[in-house]
Amino acid sequence: MLPIHLDKVSKTYLTAPDTEPTISVDLTIQAGEFFTLLGPSGCGKSTMLRMVAGFVAPTTGSIRFGDRDVTNLPPHKRGVGMVFQNYALFPHMSVADNVAYGLKVRRVARGDRAARVDAALSMVGLQSMADRRIDQLSGGQQQRVALARAVVIEPALLLLDEPLSNLDAKLREETRMQIREVQKKAETTAVYVTHDQAEAMAMSDRIAVLADGKAHQIDTPRRIYREPATSFVARFIGRSNVLPVTVVEAGSESATVSLGGGTIAVPRSPHMAVSNGAPAELAVRPEAIRLSSEVEAQLGGVVTQVEYMGATVTVDIDVDGTHVVVSAPDRTPVPDQGARVGLAVDERNTWLIPA
Ligand code: ADP
Ligand code: MG
Repeated sequence: MLPIHLDKVSKTYLTAPDTEPTISVDLTIQAGEFFTLLGPSGCGKSTMLRMVAGFVAPTTGSIRFGDRDVTNLPPHKRGVGMVFQNYALFPHMSVADNVAYGLKVRRVARGDRAARVDAALSMVGLQSMADRRIDQLSGGQQQRVALARAVVIEPALLLLDEPLSNLDAKLREETRMQIREVQKKAETTAVYVTHDQAEAMAMSDRIAVLADGKAHQIDTPRRIYREPATSFVARFIGRSNVLPVTVVEAGSESATVSLGGGTIAVPRSPHMAVSNGAPAELAVRPEAIRLSSEVEAQLGGVVTQVEYMGATVTVDIDVDGTHVVVSAPDRTPVPDQGARVGLAVDERNTWLIPA
């Protein structure tokens, strides 16, 4: 298992030479880590993965696997296994022959080949399908063959580019845990690409949230959810209110902020650059706000919409021109549209984002 270093790596495609790079990052992926590149379509995830694989040359910077500089190495000399969205299998060949292909190319002896193919197929639970043709398999099974083919070469690094996006929702959920198990058994570092935030949260040790050509935050799923570094991250991960506030008083561990006539005391990281009077944004999850009477709450507003979701009720509220979404348990009394309500904010579940 090796750490992967992307030292000031950027890519500017020749078709757009005068613009900002498509993607620009400076980061290290730890040995054995399951690391996810998450971001909206077109943000440069595949570009980054292809640079690590060796299919795309970086415009600037260097890539190291451990202490080996691979920036100028072709893909087949990097020791990476790759799984693509469309699987890229040979449809008329058997499952076993597809998995064996990489070993043949690497001139592994026939006897060793059979044993390694068998081990890789058992890792993905497809031992009994070895003689089937690819076009006789379901999409989920084909995806597992692609995974077996990637790990059979015992790669130092496993790269996966949206491998689940052709599967239906239920199969996606089942297969994502299987991918994690295989990565652990194969004892390899993994870089995973997805635009699905729930998938990224469920699978990853750490996530890099990419947008506007850069990494907005590189962190554990929990910290990305609870302590979003930018308003983009707060909006992209789960549902969140990102409220414009003014810092009234910045203490060392907490800050008082004002919003729509009310004030709230919120936690603050010591590193956070906020000063008195400065504009900022406050990320508040819909479930961190409780509806109450106006006198006992920090904020007040007018209900604009009520939606029953089953276990919860979603209430939209206008707080002096700012739209706030509240997710309340179904058992709470639900106000009528047009009613004035109080919003009791659970301060510990808010996060201040410096402007
Ligand atoms: P993602 O995988 O996040 O959807 P990509 O890395 O595929 O994003 O693409 C990022 C941007 O770079 C897009 O605007 C895309 O059109 C552009 N791009 C990707 N590949 C090429 C290429 N070979 N030549 C020129 N532009 C490209
Ligand atoms: Mg892509």
